[in-house]
Amino acid sequence: MQRRSFLKLAGLAGASSAAFGASNVVSEDKVKNPYPNSKMVRTICTICSAGCGIEAEVQNGVWVRQNNAIDHPISQGSHCCKGIDQIDLIKSKCRVKYPLKRVNGKWERISWEQAVNEIGDKMLKIREESGPDSVVFLGSAKFNNQQAYYFRKFAAFWGTNSIDHVARI
Ligand code: SF4
Repeated sequence: MQRRSFLKLAGLAGASSAAFGASNVVSEDKVKNPYPNSKMVRTICTICSAGCGIEAEVQNGVWVRQNNAIDHPISQGSHCCKGIDQIDLIKSKCRVKYPLKRVNGKWERISWEQAVNEIGDKMLKIREESGPDSVVFLGSAKFNNQQAYYFRKFAAFWGTNSIDHVARI
């Protein structure tokens, strides 16, 4: 793009925001506090074992906004790119809240019982046809100590040593 065209576009963008800005005016109260009666809850990011600090703003039991915990002894106010948007795991429209199954190219909601049974049956079929080492168990960085223990046990009962942790990759 030539410099002249770029400047024209930039001018156009500026004029549009000025024109539309008037319709975007929100009340002063909302700007000051969009979440009245909210409270700050100190917590930690659960995505990995570093445990960086988060200040979660909660309104009526719902997590509405996230701040860095500046004085946290480990993270000292910083986050990696996953933790900085930890709240998105809760608020995202893409969040999966129940089991889905793809049927004829479309996702359909199924019960937990159906999901567990179908996945279990498929896993057993794979083990029967190809042996226990045909499956790799890949643990999650979100596992706590006890979950990691159970996961390891599950792989052992399954009959394989092929188990690893996602963070190692
Ligand atoms: S912010 Fe990043 S490094 Fe910190 S706990 Fe979360 S995932 Fe781990």
